[in-house]
Amino acid sequence: MELAPGVHIIGGKSGGHVRAFLVKHGGELTLIDTLYGTDAGAVLTEIRRLGRSPSDLKRIAITHAHRSHLGGLAALKRESGARILAHEWEADIVAGERKAQPVTILPRLPLRAWFPWQVGLALGRGKHPPAPVDEVLADGDELAGFQVLHVPGHTPGHLAFWAPEHGLLLTGDAIATWPRFEAGWPAFTLNAEEHEASIRRMAGLEPRTVAVGHGDPIVKDAAARVHSLVNS
Ligand SMILES: [Zn+2]
Ligand SMILES: [Zn+2]
Repeated sequence: MELAPGVHIIGGKSGGHVRAFLVKHGGELTLIDTLYGTDAGAVLTEIRRLGRSPSDLKRIAITHAHRSHLGGLAALKRESGARILAHEWEADIVAGERKAQPVTILPRLPLRAWFPWQVGLALGRGKHPPAPVDEVLADGDELAGFQVLHVPGHTPGHLAFWAPEHGLLLTGDAIATWPRFEAGWPAFTLNAEEHEASIRRMAGLEPRTVAVGHGDPIVKDAAARVHSLVNS
């Protein structure tokens, strides 16, 4: 599915319905996040479906260093030689030099139903095949037609990506639509105050399409729905 010209969304049910984004820009491919599978099969399939080869993948940007988003990273690095980009506060986790920060062990009520799944999968501290970060991304940088936004809260170095001409916002885990629409998975938010400021900032962009880290994108009333997450 194409969210905007050249922006393709990838991902199925694995990794908590995790999503990645393959962007065709200026003849080159850029990937944002790498899905759960360590063989990167779904990403490689999408690259070939577009009639391209892995060597066309020039850079891989990581929204944040949680397992579901990093699974295919090392395999894709091997296949493509792409440069790996992340915020400096996530880089050492991506590289396998530090574990992700622990999150609340007992989730709040709505999450209890799916807690066993949650523990195994997405505490985010599971091991991923590591790969070193080649380049640091910071707020205000440009990446394949997107502006880089530093939106901390879910994790300290969490990034979102904003394409103003398409009104397209890729929020990473700052917002989730699976298993339901909410401001990220509450039990995973490391800093609630920063997270709220990040949501407020993203709402202020008035996005027309919002694609999230887990679940389907929001294509209708997207700005209003993000505003509804802002605590007044
Ligand atoms: Zn996460
Ligand atoms: Zn996630």
